[in-house]
Amino acid sequence: MKLTLLKITALFIFSLSTYAQTYNTYYQSVVDNVSASNILADLTTFENFGVKEVGTTALTNAQNWITSRYTALGYTDITLQPFTYSSGTSNNIIVTKTGTVYPDTFIIIDGHYDTINGPGTNDNGSGTTLILEVARLLKDIDTEYSIKFIHFSGEEEGLIGSQYYVNNTVNPENLDIRLVFNLDQVGGVNGETNDTITCEEDRSNPPANNSASSAMTTILANCVELYSNLNTVISYAYASDYIPFENNGEIITGLYETNETTHAHTTTDVLANMDPTFLTQVTKGSLGALLEYAVSTNPLSITENKLELFKIYPNPSNNGIVNINFLTETTTNNSLIIYDVLGKEVYKKSNLQHLQALNLKKLRKGIYIAVVKTDKESTTKKLILN
Ligand SMILES: [Zn+2]
Repeated sequence: MKLTLLKITALFIFSLSTYAQTYNTYYQSVVDNVSASNILADLTTFENFGVKEVGTTALTNAQNWITSRYTALGYTDITLQPFTYSSGTSNNIIVTKTGTVYPDTFIIIDGHYDTINGPGTNDNGSGTTLILEVARLLKDIDTEYSIKFIHFSGEEEGLIGSQYYVNNTVNPENLDIRLVFNLDQVGGVNGETNDTITCEEDRSNPPANNSASSAMTTILANCVELYSNLNTVISYAYASDYIPFENNGEIITGLYETNETTHAHTTTDVLANMDPTFLTQVTKGSLGALLEYAVSTNPLSITENKLELFKIYPNPSNNGIVNINFLTETTTNNSLIIYDVLGKEVYKKSNLQHLQALNLKKLRKGIYIAVVKTDKESTTKKLILN
């Protein structure tokens, strides 16, 4: 949607007030699960599809692979958006994760999956793989804002897929976009010291959205430095899928490798010529930034209520059996949810009795968070299974 000046100003002030991101141990615990071996495996799969130009079977195969990955993760809101360009038809892949507080406001993380002349393992297997890994780790984590993971096609033909999405989805649906975060060619160069990533801000026309982009890009740089071992430089955004959004007045940011490959758009844009270790670090920084942008909720940070609703005992439990005992009048309209330390729901029970025994033997040993809710109140307690 076109932003009003008021909205831009409000966002800018908000961004300034959160300028120095504080290190978040919960975000770090999520980022720690970024898997170098997953990334390597996905880059290899992407490369093996071959040259993925619009109209090729290779591109369709890559599309089917990406889609099946989201299905396997358990995402259900997966849309293929077909468009025809020149002699070929291909699809943008749009996957939506709904936010808990602002379901109708979107953080878009995007990258193109079409390639030209070669297999495009860096340009843009790197961004494609990064988004898949981030989507894997965010699947069971609550975020206040909705997230759209978008894999565009037709980028190499001239940003065709992203322009089509802006024209045919963003504008007709008046989509409320908080930020577009673009990943393109973030794989680094084999044999070079890849210790820095370029964070890209909007310095072009229209100017109304530039300061907000700058603030968001500063957040990106801060998060990359907090959650990866990379240094950052800030430069200007150009020639990738965020541009149709930027022309539309949206707020954009992006990442692009600082050591720039000479293999892009050639047959030698292959895994052997890039640096998957660098991509793993870029993925960690991107995930930290996305958690910050989409505002994730740390279940461990919930303060225990003063007014106790229930007792849970024995705690720690040595045999996986615990009892919940309500201290107030029992209502049948109640529920218990147990979360692990990553915020993933691992157990749920409704309509608890006044004294209710629970068999949690299927859960691993460790620390959990138990949240009991009734119509009126909720209480959160730490639960330890030994
Ligand atoms: Zn690219």
